[in-house]
Amino acid sequence: MKRLLLLLSIAGLALAKPAYALDAHGQEAAVDQSTVIVAFLNGLRADNSVYMGTHKIEFFAALSKGQTPKATVVTCSDSRVQANMFDRSPEGELFTVRNIGNQMATAEGSVEYGVHHLHTPVLLFLGHSRCGAIAAVSGNYSKESDAIKRELDTITIAKDLNNIDGVRTNVHSQVTGAMLKFAEEIAAGQLTVIGAVMDFADDLHQGAGKLHLINVNGETDPAKLDNLNTLLAKQKPKAAEAAAKKATTPAKPAAAPAHH
Ligand SMILES: [Zn+2]
Repeated sequence: MKRLLLLLSIAGLALAKPAYALDAHGQEAAVDQSTVIVAFLNGLRADNSVYMGTHKIEFFAALSKGQTPKATVVTCSDSRVQANMFDRSPEGELFTVRNIGNQMATAEGSVEYGVHHLHTPVLLFLGHSRCGAIAAVSGNYSKESDAIKRELDTITIAKDLNNIDGVRTNVHSQVTGAMLKFAEEIAAGQLTVIGAVMDFADDLHQGAGKLHLINVNGETDPAKLDNLNTLLAKQKPKAAEAAAKKATTPAKPAAAPAHH
């Protein structure tokens, strides 16, 4: 660890790019980049020590045995959105995929891993207020790099849409896309696709930091979403019916390979 810190502080010095912080008089003063990095890493080490001290050996033993997460979560990389906002112990519970704009298209393998290999009963798409990716897509992002454009191109929202509406539109369309992709798992009652928004800016006027559930397997009526038991019970018979139909339908003969 000491060696890592040394390397990082050398890297910090080599960058020689001063960061700025406010001094005691509220004036902007140049701070050596390495000072910022060392303080950050020391903070991580201190927090990690607390974490080790407040979690029992049994907790880590359970994690060591393997994972059976409850949800595959696709969320934005935005640093302001973290699992501790809605889950006090996400370890082993959330299989998380992050990218700009919480989109499935550029993370399909990871999402499939969660749904097909870890069999999470929930696939959650989580957007958030004041999303930079959504702001970019609803404006002009033609000057971005190809790598960034590739990811933003997967998001379809109207131009000039206000940010929180764009965020909701994107979450709904991610849910729709996932429902098509995982139609079989949903029909068999093995998967529920959920759309949510973390509203730390209170743009939806229901409290800063509120997690809003806005879509459950395509249902977006707030009154119905408030009553999850009834909603999921109603979706169940359909799933059971589909599963029964699948069981009684004779398997199709394998398609002959195409010859060219
Ligand atoms: Zn974002």
